[in-house]
Amino acid sequence: MAGIYIHIPFCKQACSYCDFHFSTSFEKYRTRMVKAICKEIEVRKSYLKAEEIFSIYFGGGTPSVLNAEEIRQLVDSILSNFKVNPKSEITLEANPDDINAERLEDWKKAGVNRLSIGVQSFRKQDLDWMNRAHTVEEAKSALRLAANYGFELSIDVIYGLPNFTLEDFKNNLDQVLHFSPAHLSAYCLTVEENTALHKAVEQGKIVPANNEAQSEQFDFLVAYLQAKGYEQYEISNFAREEKYAVHNSNYWKGEKYLGVGPSAHSFDGYTRSWNIANNAKYMKAIENQEDFYEVEELSIYDQFNEALLVGLRTKWGVAKHRLPKELLNTEEFRQGIEEFKAEGYLLETEEVFLLTQKGRLKADGIASDLFILAD
Ligand code: SF4
Repeated sequence: MAGIYIHIPFCKQACSYCDFHFSTSFEKYRTRMVKAICKEIEVRKSYLKAEEIFSIYFGGGTPSVLNAEEIRQLVDSILSNFKVNPKSEITLEANPDDINAERLEDWKKAGVNRLSIGVQSFRKQDLDWMNRAHTVEEAKSALRLAANYGFELSIDVIYGLPNFTLEDFKNNLDQVLHFSPAHLSAYCLTVEENTALHKAVEQGKIVPANNEAQSEQFDFLVAYLQAKGYEQYEISNFAREEKYAVHNSNYWKGEKYLGVGPSAHSFDGYTRSWNIANNAKYMKAIENQEDFYEVEELSIYDQFNEALLVGLRTKWGVAKHRLPKELLNTEEFRQGIEEFKAEGYLLETEEVFLLTQKGRLKADGIASDLFILAD
């Protein structure tokens, strides 16, 4: 179930909370960037060792700023260099202000069958301080239109916002549910360094939500969506009728993926690599056939800890066969497992370790308590 991730490092404007890799002044080199990414796809066509591809994911940045021709070039480049299953999930992250009938038509023709739409909130005041490029009305009409065009929809929202009550969150979720998306991702706001939000918090202009409010909203989210027929299959991700995101699920299950574009990461089961996180340097390196990524061989400790960290966040848990045998039966690990089992946080079967509902609320903490560090 290998996949390909394409990082489009362009955004119309910088959202105040975002620390992803993107540039807002890309017009003069967008064509050159698409060409460079196509070149990378060709250069790295052996990375997945001819494994069949089941997921193509355009992330960013804001891939929806690309025009139809640019998206087609990238999809065509993948199709001509990889064996892609005809039923593959092809997702495009899209912002509401980029969605219109013509674009939806074009994306469909280019093969996109799933849209992940960054709505974040239906409250004007939230969109304002977030510096989002869209309005509440644009979000609603984009969702209506995208659903009419038959795309499978995933909607992104953020909770734990400043000046944001449980009632505000419920209203946001109700607006999301009105569009019956197949999938919903809900992330808790974090204040990252080197963001405008961080600065505003430091200057006392924005007061972040406290931990209690954030966990109250998380508990509400899980219960409310469950009551509405959405299964929480990963801490922050919910799906109805098992419409799990193939791209995300592959990542959590430790499947291989190739990430192309500036700052994209790749994983082949044993090594992790990451591309230069600088647009100009990335393009130049590709054009001059110079090195554009670094590679790190994962030690058995890295493999073990990483599998726990991502696997325990999901409903599938972490499969024992993913954990290096040398560490699986160590006394240290077994003791941790038994303690979490006794406290009702974790279940163990022949094949997997799995968190209970109670355990999922503390997934990251439990995983890190179980980590084994190299001597
Ligand atoms: S559109 Fe997405 S990637 Fe771009 S700045 Fe906003 S949150 Fe970050």
